[in-house]
Amino acid sequence: MILRPRSYFGWGASGADYANPDSGLVIHYNGAATGLKTQADCVRYWKGVRSSHVNGNGWADLGYSFGVAVNGEVFTGRGLNKYQAAQGTTSGNSNWYSVSLMIGGNEQPTPAQIQGVRDLRAYLMARGVSGAIRGHRDFVSTSCPGTPLYRMVQDGTFGKKGNGTPNTGGGSGEYRPENGDGLFQLYEYGDAIKPLQAKLGVTADGYYGPGTEAAVRAYQKANGLDVDGIAGPATLAHLGLTAPAAKPDSGVRAWPGVYLKDYTAHSSVRTYQQRMRDRGWSIGVDGQYGPASARVTRQFQQEKRLGVDGIVGPDTWAAAWTAPVT
Ligand SMILES: [Zn+2]
Repeated sequence: MILRPRSYFGWGASGADYANPDSGLVIHYNGAATGLKTQADCVRYWKGVRSSHVNGNGWADLGYSFGVAVNGEVFTGRGLNKYQAAQGTTSGNSNWYSVSLMIGGNEQPTPAQIQGVRDLRAYLMARGVSGAIRGHRDFVSTSCPGTPLYRMVQDGTFGKKGNGTPNTGGGSGEYRPENGDGLFQLYEYGDAIKPLQAKLGVTADGYYGPGTEAAVRAYQKANGLDVDGIAGPATLAHLGLTAPAAKPDSGVRAWPGVYLKDYTAHSSVRTYQQRMRDRGWSIGVDGQYGPASARVTRQFQQEKRLGVDGIVGPDTWAAAWTAPVT
């Protein structure tokens, strides 16, 4: 979990009153659609929320305990052990932590953002807080946190396993297409995606969001290609574009910076599955890190005397390329 401290935003200690919330975590959304696409957008947004809460509302500090950016980074608001201005009731603000996902309206959270909430929950649980998850509307009459997020509150999506070990000095956590798989797909971000967007007639901002994915699907359908929303070699060639070069196979692939677990849908899942199949494991190469993939990983971890958790992190990833096949 990448946890950005207050100092990252140029803020000193929070002036809010002390509290000891231990009942769980309450999910919020922005309200209006945000259209935030990058970590930098989210930093600007988070600073703006604080400014409006402090200068506009006259509050002691930004109202929320934490926020989760579209790339999954957790941003500190009031932080730990502070009374909040978020839940709308006195007991809600003193007994529960709050997290604002930087989306609004009916925008869907990104996979990284969902994982960020799970990681934050694990982080709080490691500090004695209950693992309960609620939505703002469980406290007062409000549309917050919106339909997509409230559904996830109810179906247990946010209650799944998280990595609560904070890392304040890590990279940006952006999903990027430079993983050498020769594909562009949802939530990837980078200049290499702009020519594709220009060909499709969507805004060439380098963000492969739901709009770009929908345009790829429409193009694939109209041209008799496999409709999967992923711009791979066939789709790119049809558009007159060159597929991104798959990295030369030097033998070892760098860890993509994404933990593979809990249905992670990222291009590196396919890379990992193919690698494990090449090593002789019976594993489907479908790009979805589900229970079957986790089972293979657990067996592999046991065999290689790694920590057995079924999650592909840097060590397990490296072993998949460097450990001898036995
Ligand atoms: Zn709310």
